[in-house]
Amino acid sequence: MRFSNQPKEALKVKSAPLGREFLESQLPRLLEDQVDLISYRRDASVYPAGRPQAAFRATSTDEVVQVVKIALQRKLPVYVWGAGSTYAGGVNPSSGGIALDVSPMNRILAIDRTRAVVLVEPGVTYGALLEALRPHGLTVGIVPLTGPSGTVGGTISSHGLGTGSPRFQGTGDEVAGLEVVLADGEILCTGSAVLKEAGFFQRYAVGPDLTGLFLGANGAFGVITKIALWTHPIPAHVETMALGFADYPTAANFIAHCQERELFRNVWYGAGYDKAAVAARIAGAAPAPDFCLGLDLRGEPEDVAADRRRLTQAARGYGGDEYPIFNDVFFSKLRRDFSFWYGYAGYFSRSMCALLMTSMESSTMPRFFALLTRFRADYPEFTWGAGTVLCRRGLHGAVIMFYDEQRQWEAARQACIACCEHLLRIGCVPYKTGKVWASLMDNFPAYFKLLQKLKTALDPQRLLAPDNLAL
Ligand SMILES: Cc1cc2nc3c(=O)[nH]c(=O)nc-3n(C[C@H](O)[C@H](O)[C@H](O)COP(=O)(O)OP(=O)(O)OC[C@H]3O[C@@H](n4cnc5c(N)ncnc54)[C@H](O)[C@@H]3O)c2cc1C
Repeated sequence: MRFSNQPKEALKVKSAPLGREFLESQLPRLLEDQVDLISYRRDASVYPAGRPQAAFRATSTDEVVQVVKIALQRKLPVYVWGAGSTYAGGVNPSSGGIALDVSPMNRILAIDRTRAVVLVEPGVTYGALLEALRPHGLTVGIVPLTGPSGTVGGTISSHGLGTGSPRFQGTGDEVAGLEVVLADGEILCTGSAVLKEAGFFQRYAVGPDLTGLFLGANGAFGVITKIALWTHPIPAHVETMALGFADYPTAANFIAHCQERELFRNVWYGAGYDKAAVAARIAGAAPAPDFCLGLDLRGEPEDVAADRRRLTQAARGYGGDEYPIFNDVFFSKLRRDFSFWYGYAGYFSRSMCALLMTSMESSTMPRFFALLTRFRADYPEFTWGAGTVLCRRGLHGAVIMFYDEQRQWEAARQACIACCEHLLRIGCVPYKTGKVWASLMDNFPAYFKLLQKLKTALDPQRLLAPDNLAL
């Protein structure tokens, strides 16, 4: 296995001089002041910060086209910024160039009730989107737990997940089509919108699914400028529950059992917590099980009640049972009380932490938590946590490591590298790849070779997000 989370020298794009006068004449709102540029150096990951030569806050597709064409002319790399809240280094301008901030592109362009599609610009946040859809009785399938800040463009470009995942899987599965500015400045629409008159109503049309090429691509293949998402009726009723299990293998078997029988069909969010996390939340009020699964069920009240009974029954078949105290003191609050959640999210974003996201099948879960135990013992200087997020198929695993940025930056990076290597060995697949996991791409040779060919075809100068996905 080969791993280092530094960009490979051979792949590094050498930025051309900015050509200030030329750029200023072309892009009058270009930001070059070092103070302005500080906020475009890095996200919250342990990946090293970059130094953009300039930043531009785009307000329209035309402006994105203009920036991309100028970047091509001047051979300047372009790193797209949404809210910059991902823990994968994708926005870090490791090769300099222009930080293209699309967060001002924040208009909701159409709520098409007949087609059940909402068309948005990439800088729309989920908070704003949900607020706009609510009066129509609508929501979107997947919402990351990023509070009000995560943008739709950044989330689909980094394979978002969260509320809706047990039912719909990932953000990509809920995208009906895209408008993308390619590296040569050309504008592409995908899905049924390849025919302008038809617009966005069908993801799969004409030939292969080109929408998928840009999902999770971290801006390496194009700049997403419009996104069509499927809408869904807001479920009538919400309730939460928690199930406790004596050990990980039986909990993993329970999850596989429920996924096979689609017992999670009305579950909109599910999160798995280890004993330490549960014990901390309930503060010794009861013995903590080894594993606890919090579930957020939504739908018609009678369907939710029936599914709740089925899930409890199935859990008992695996030696588990309802564990109400965890639901009462923590999980129900996390899911219903937004001030509680935002406080929780704020706590994460204020404390420097590294977050490694992986994808795994449920039978890998015991090894995933065993790895965490090992890392807690091997690296006691950091505070480690881990959790799983339930998906329609499989699970996502998050390893979270808190560190002191002043003293422990390099050591934290090394610990993360070691953790990534071990996660791969136990069968966890990188999920939010960005730059943090990029050097692992060599471990998927056929996949990576095809990505490289596509990159060469679409962006021969390698100006779009160099180093992301090791491209
Ligand atoms: C407390 C906390 C909780 C979180 N919880 C979740 C969670 O539950 N689920 C989850 O999925 N994530 C989660 N995250 C990670 C991340 O914050 C979210 O996925 C967020 O929604 C990403 O959006 P963003 O606007 O911050 O993306 P950014 O970080 O700005 O961008 C992500 C990547 O996409 C690229 N990109 C951005 N916009 C475009 C575009 N228009 N075109 C092409 N490429 C683009 C960027 O270059 C970068 O590589 C969490 C983060 C925090 C801090």
